Amino acid sequence: MQTILKKYFGFDEFRPLQKEIIEHILSGRDSFVLMPTGGGKSLCYQLPALKFAGITLVISPLIALMKDQVDSLQASGIAAEFVNSSLNASEINKILHEARSGKIKLLYVAPERMALPHFENFLKELKPSLIAVDEAHCISEWGHDFRPDYRNLKTLKNNFPNTPIVALTATATEKVRQDILNQLNLDKPKVFISSFNRENLFFRVIEKKNAYAKLLKLLENHKKDSVIIYCFSRKDTENLAADLRSAGFSARSYHAGLNPDERKKSQEAFIRDEVNIIVATIAFGMGIDKPDVRLVVHYTFPKSLEGYYQEIGRAGRDGLKAECVMFYTYADARKHQYFLTDITDENIKKQTERKLQEVMDYADLRTCRRHHLLSYFGENYVQDNCGSCDQCLKQDEPEDLFDATIITQKILSAIVRTDSRFGAGYIIDILRGKNTKQIRERNHAGLSVYGIVKDFSDDALREIIRSLFHSGLIRKADGEYPILELTKIGKDFLKNKETLFLPRPKKEETENKFKISEDHDYDENMFEILRELRRKLATELNVPPFVVFSDVSLREMAYYFPASENDFLNITGVGELKLKNFGKTFLAEINKYVKENNLTPKEFPKVQQRRKSPEIKSGNIRGTYQVTLEFIEKKTPLTEIAKARNLTEGTLVSHLEKITLINDKIDFTYLKPEEKIFEEIKSSFQKFGTGALNPIFEALKGKYDYATIRLVRIFLNSGK
Ligand code: ADP
Ligand code: ZN
Repeated sequence: MQTILKKYFGFDEFRPLQKEIIEHILSGRDSFVLMPTGGGKSLCYQLPALKFAGITLVISPLIALMKDQVDSLQASGIAAEFVNSSLNASEINKILHEARSGKIKLLYVAPERMALPHFENFLKELKPSLIAVDEAHCISEWGHDFRPDYRNLKTLKNNFPNTPIVALTATATEKVRQDILNQLNLDKPKVFISSFNRENLFFRVIEKKNAYAKLLKLLENHKKDSVIIYCFSRKDTENLAADLRSAGFSARSYHAGLNPDERKKSQEAFIRDEVNIIVATIAFGMGIDKPDVRLVVHYTFPKSLEGYYQEIGRAGRDGLKAECVMFYTYADARKHQYFLTDITDENIKKQTERKLQEVMDYADLRTCRRHHLLSYFGENYVQDNCGSCDQCLKQDEPEDLFDATIITQKILSAIVRTDSRFGAGYIIDILRGKNTKQIRERNHAGLSVYGIVKDFSDDALREIIRSLFHSGLIRKADGEYPILELTKIGKDFLKNKETLFLPRPKKEETENKFKISEDHDYDENMFEILRELRRKLATELNVPPFVVFSDVSLREMAYYFPASENDFLNITGVGELKLKNFGKTFLAEINKYVKENNLTPKEFPKVQQRRKSPEIKSGNIRGTYQVTLEFIEKKTPLTEIAKARNLTEGTLVSHLEKITLINDKIDFTYLKPEEKIFEEIKSSFQKFGTGALNPIFEALKGKYDYATIRLVRIFLNSGK
């Protein structure tokens, strides 16, 4: 298997689950594969196809994608073909003939063809060794992408009882999953579900204010990259694409309203790297499977988190780093809500509203976005700091806290004085002493809280109010309007005259603060030269550039500067046929560049270098950690620190973990859990290792919370 992997695909190792899945398929049994986009599903049936004696049938919903897939396989020396409506009868006959004579290993077909009697007979005669159903969720009416033609696949198992079937998809809720298994009537299938965590994606939410300027800045950082921008309406896509073009970018719009010809043109230009930016409505997508999209922007926030994950699935399929940026403003909620009025079914309306609210909650997060997304899909992400979302990256910087006691008292009082009947906007107007019609009518200018805030702007107040939400001092009252009211914590705060620290409101968000670090510091000029060469070759061969080589391959070339054919074979994605077809041309270009610039090729590492976990960047304890540390030095119990700081104990323990990593002199023995608990958790750690908390939590059947388990780990790691 390893030999085939390198020889044809040019890969040195399997991605998680690939090997297990392939072995299971080769044993002749049915399987169901749930893996995120870019997880490497195709290899799971492509590699077995090479080992099986007969043909492998691949059912795939999109004609546009079939050709790219088949081109890629052929470029790697694999006998693959497709039959669909884009071919004429004689072309189809030729392929079917080749299939009969055993010349084809993989045959891609569209689902509608399965319903044609003569095709069915042909297949029965052919006796496929394996049937792969790609995008299997299309069979379910419960899914988001039901395709009636997929119903033709219900009889597959009956017609081919001895042929193993593998169903693959990137999106399936439990309900859809069951539906797929039932409808395909799989025989005791083994279900493989991989993590949906996509480590190479960076998540960020940007306030949608001066949006266009911010967008331009973002695009500046992705000058030569492939970018997808999602807009709300067809009109928006066209306007934005035009604006971007006049700003000097190469951009095209893409939406369901274009005629098929224009749509195809946009699509091809993008795939062939002739256009960098596609501005699309969400109708766009399925037709495009470009592995090297480096940035996906939602210029208007999406309708649901499921949809969002699906849409950003198009970023970084090749495994290289990519950014997912969502522009957010509460005002855009109205655009979405406007369409809610069209929905007559009350249940659907409620559900749609809830989904919208979930996206807004995501946008408002002050904690790890990756954690939130994964837990939304039922996964527990245990790492503290993902190192690749705006919130986690912010944590690495000193957090700027200020004493918000007085301003909080003012805000809370204003809510109480107006009988908890108003939203944030009105409360701000009162505090700032605005002379508005509503305030005059309600006689609110006479309130003691009227005009008492001089030292914060409207925007700053809004941010502080948002922080108060996150700290649990206020909440939105039930009901139609966004009315603010105090929680119990908020009431206690006013009564007990407690102190409160909050993040200092920013004047204007300094956007694009974080720049994504690259996997390799490859030579960018070399990369561009190779990209150009790739484009030239692809045009000659009339295939998309990624069929020649992926960005992964080019970046490795621009890092290692392979000098010989042997070296070249070390590059990821270089198999035998690609070496033969492209090796000389690329090596010549690389050698020339190396000579001209007096460079030395680098050694290839023996073992694949593992990605390092995010490191602590600075040796200083600052910001929020500093505040926690001061409490710990005073030996304040965790419950009290939690109350004073409006943080959970879990957060405080993770602060402590970080603090102890930076400074091992700190005395925190007073926090040690009682002996019995400590020993029980300790022995669990000894069994499972101290790498992850999740196994311990599960082994102890939820008896202790994560905070306690983590606390024990800190003691174990610090030898105290
Ligand atoms: P999916 O169908 O799950 O979205 P693909 O099968 O298109 O994902 O694979 C995504 C990318 O990962 C492709 O560029 C593919 O070449 C690459 N890939 C797949 N398996 C491996 C592997 N074992 N090693 C390196 N790259 C891989
Ligand atoms: Zn994070």
